[in-house]
Amino acid sequence: MRKPIIAGNWKLHKTVEESRQLIKALAEGLKDVTDVEIVVAPVFTSLESVVAAAKGSPIAIAAQNCYPAPSGAFTGEVSPALLKDVGCIGAIVGHSERRQLFGESNAFINNKVQALLAADLRAIFCIGETLDERESGRMYDILTMQVKEGLAGLTPEQMAKVVVAYEPVWAIGTGKTASNEEAEEAHAFIRGLLQGNFNEKVAENTPILYGGSVKPGNVDGLMAQEDIDGVLVGGASLVAEDFIRIVRFERTEPAQH
Ligand code: PEP
Repeated sequence: MRKPIIAGNWKLHKTVEESRQLIKALAEGLKDVTDVEIVVAPVFTSLESVVAAAKGSPIAIAAQNCYPAPSGAFTGEVSPALLKDVGCIGAIVGHSERRQLFGESNAFINNKVQALLAADLRAIFCIGETLDERESGRMYDILTMQVKEGLAGLTPEQMAKVVVAYEPVWAIGTGKTASNEEAEEAHAFIRGLLQGNFNEKVAENTPILYGGSVKPGNVDGLMAQEDIDGVLVGGASLVAEDFIRIVRFERTEPAQH
């Protein structure tokens, strides 16, 4: 059984003090949770304060990005080693905003995954198709390449530190969510890719999160899908009440396929 993972991506929001307020509210509201892995990803400048404020709570802290080198002349960048130093458990990599706005390629994202694993950190590895790619029938080719190139060179053992997040770009921050069926279909396909690229055990054990306008009102249906092991939440993770409700999703038997 894969333990559910609920992750919040705070993106470029909140000062240190605002971040501290939010994590305090989450830590209080989620202190009794043991059956879900909870992760939040604040901006770099808030990481240290949020790690300190989350201490003793079930909430782990990740970064939203990293640079694939341990140190060196890389002005403006932050390495996995430095993230580990402030208490992060890992980082989100390959988010569609970084792919689109900063031109990150599958190969560069692969370097980041490798760098995180080399530092013994976890990689929350995001993939997903644009609306144009979906509508022109290229969605499966895109997902296939993103998985093949983004996870290239990893051993099945290293995959134990990787969480895949399927985030259809057209559903991010748009209020449009994939239907439960659309999301499950993509997740089942991605699980098949993990089997093909690695093996049955990796396919069985790797958590695959859904992301894209997840809210308190749609999380239960998504989490009821057999291959959806958790969610990566943007906007709703900035509102304590909403994120707490998402972590406390209602459990039902997975739909049979
Ligand atoms: C995200 O940023 O990863 C995301 C899924 O955002 P939102 O929930 O706001 O669509």
